Amino acid sequence: MKALRFENNELRLADVPLPRRDGEALVRMTVAGICDTDTEIARGYANFRGTLGHEFVGVVEESPDRSQIGRRVVGEINVGCGECDLCRENDPRHCPGRTVLGIRGRDGAFAEYLSLPPRNLLIVPDNISDRQAVFTEPLAAARAVLDQVEITASHRVAVIGDGKLGQLISRVIARSGCDLTLIGKHRNKLELASRAGVKTLELDALEIGPSARFDFVVEASGSSGGFGLALDLVRPRGAIILKSTFHGAAGLDTSKIVVNEIRVIGSRCGRFENALRLLESGCVDVEPLIAREYELAGGVEAMAEAERPGTLKVLLTN
Ligand SMILES: [Zn+2]
Ligand SMILES: [Zn+2]
Repeated sequence: MKALRFENNELRLADVPLPRRDGEALVRMTVAGICDTDTEIARGYANFRGTLGHEFVGVVEESPDRSQIGRRVVGEINVGCGECDLCRENDPRHCPGRTVLGIRGRDGAFAEYLSLPPRNLLIVPDNISDRQAVFTEPLAAARAVLDQVEITASHRVAVIGDGKLGQLISRVIARSGCDLTLIGKHRNKLELASRAGVKTLELDALEIGPSARFDFVVEASGSSGGFGLALDLVRPRGAIILKSTFHGAAGLDTSKIVVNEIRVIGSRCGRFENALRLLESGCVDVEPLIAREYELAGGVEAMAEAERPGTLKVLLTN
């Protein structure tokens, strides 16, 4: 089969054997999404070698769980060892021995087929299209913020970053009815969020002072300056939720965290069930975030497009 692989510091389309792992399901990829993690890996981040891709929707061709065969699925990307305390508590996301689809020790979804354990797969409800379902993983990551802090209608919340993740996080948080502001640099992307009912502010127009104090600040800019800005914006005893896995030291004044008693919360993957429920209800519109679609054979070109600053979601189809 064809697979988009990162090996020897090079991204290329390769012919490889079908991915087969004992006790796992074989899934034919239908649509896959390129995320910033993929472009970072292709720059050498995470030391991953193999087939890229972790956002996908597909159809089960083979599975030890016969009820899955022929069904449309999305898949949780973390595969735990199944034996440690975290795995026993049903949290393979933090298993120290985990593999992660297309990120750590496991070939990913930018291929004709991928392999995952049956327990990782979730059936996609019929009213969710493939182009919506492919957003399940990033939407779950966005939704994870609400599992970590309780945001209510009385809170003031800022999201820093108008890119793919910031857009999804704003759409999810806006549903709490809180006073939400999305802060970004790109007028076209801020407009996109406005059309989804989110209040926006251009970074240049931001005035930092006592009036710009938020209960929660979600950092999703992917830039090293985002954390510092979040510290300027959060109120004393407020919380910062970090979603960016920016590469390199943030170089910031940590005394502000101590003096103002700020909570800093790291946030990564979320639960797929919650994201599927959001998509099923139709209350989060993800399709406006699609920039362009490529066939899998055009994967190298698609990655180059996704890497261009300001590009929204680039999809691969099979
Ligand atoms: Zn991703
Ligand atoms: Zn484990």
